[in-house]
Order: sequence, then C-alpha cells, then structure tokens
Amino acid sequence: MSRQHPQINLSRRSLFKFGAGAIGTGILTVGLGSNLLAAETAPAAPAEEEVTPDKALQELLDGNDRFVKRKRKNPHQSYTRLVEVAKGQKPFASVLGCADSRVPSEIVFDQGLGDLFVCRVAGNIATPEEIGSLEFGSLVLGSKVIMVVGHKRCGAVDAAIKGAQVPGQIGSLLAAIKPSVESSKGQSGDKVENACKANVLSQVKKLKSSTVLSELISAEKLKIVGAYYDLDTGKISILN
Ligand SMILES: [Zn+2]
Repeated sequence: MSRQHPQINLSRRSLFKFGAGAIGTGILTVGLGSNLLAAETAPAAPAEEEVTPDKALQELLDGNDRFVKRKRKNPHQSYTRLVEVAKGQKPFASVLGCADSRVPSEIVFDQGLGDLFVCRVAGNIATPEEIGSLEFGSLVLGSKVIMVVGHKRCGAVDAAIKGAQVPGQIGSLLAAIKPSVESSKGQSGDKVENACKANVLSQVKKLKSSTVLSELISAEKLKIVGAYYDLDTGKISILN
C-alpha cells in the first residue's frame, strides 16, 4: 500500500459520509447529509451506454479534431443541460492541464457542462491536491480517462529551464518541473518542447503511482494518457 494513500480502504459508500458520493444507479452527486440520503434512495436512472476508457479517450480526440477543423458542435451548453447536470455530475473524462489561458479544456476538446473534470495548474503538475482531485474524479464520479495536457511554449517550463528567480510560491511550480528539465537535457530539438513533453510523461507516471488510480486501471475502469497541445494549430497529440 502506498504511503501516500493511507485512505485507500475508503469505499464509495464511506465517501458518502464525507458528503460526496457515487450512486449505484449511475446518478452521481456531490452534496450534504440529507440530500445524499435522498439521492441514495432515488429511482434508477435510465440505462446508459457504458463508457469505456477507450471510448472516453476517443471522444476527447474527436472533440479536438472538430476544434482543429473548425467544426465545433459546442455540445451540452444549453439551459436544459445545465438543469440536467445540476442534479448530479458524471464527467466522462478528466484533464490535468496547464493554467495557461490559451488552453481551455472545454473549448479545445469541444465539450460542455458536466463533461469534463478539469484540474488546471501552471505546468500541469500532479501535486497532492491535483492527485486527490483526480482520484475523486475517477473513483467517485466515474471519469474513465485522465489526460495530462502539456503545451507548446509553456511559460512555466521555460522558466524552469532558465532557472528563473521568482517571488512568492511560484518557485514551487518550477521545482516540480525541474527534474523533467534535467531528464530531457541533451535531446535534440526545441528545449522547451522536450522538457514539456518529459514533464507530461513524468506527471503521468506520478498519477499512475496513486494506489487509487492504479487499481482503477487494473480493473479496466480507467486509462491515463499524456498529451501535447500545439498552440499554433490547436491540435492535441498523444505522447504515450
Ligand atoms: Zn503552460
């Protein structure tokens, strides 16, 4: 058992006691006390087609393809959808992306309300908080794929390469990226791109070391992939 995750024995039911839970019927909610009790006894939702990790990944790639080809459908952005997902969420995919304003997940994957469970932080690093959030997204909410998305000309990666002296807490971001800068040294090509891709793969590895996530992967309920976003074309490329 990983020392990082002593709470691995938490069942979905015990998560209800935390005020957040997954319902066996397929309706997933986040709420408090009595609301959860009501949700647990709610009638079964209509059967939905089972989303597999492969299908979830394909849906992300298809959405990005529509974005690149300027054929966005802008799905799930109606008021009807807002009302529907207000009752409970069941995002099919999670994204660990950079906070960069040019890489907004719902737009570049052409998705809408309730579709994506998104964690964004400069340098798309898997901090304990991000890992915990993504564990919640998959274990409790049922997200079937986690995509770590790095991007071209990432400022955080560039600053880590330059060893920039930075104020406040910014240094904590750079420290997390630094090992990938070191491991990608000596590779031919663009330094920032190489370090950025190495960083994505390093964060994927970190996520896979989560006991919660690795158990979901073993049960074929989850896939974790790394990807690179091209700022110039809008295209997502899978790295692993
Ligand atoms: Zn960035």
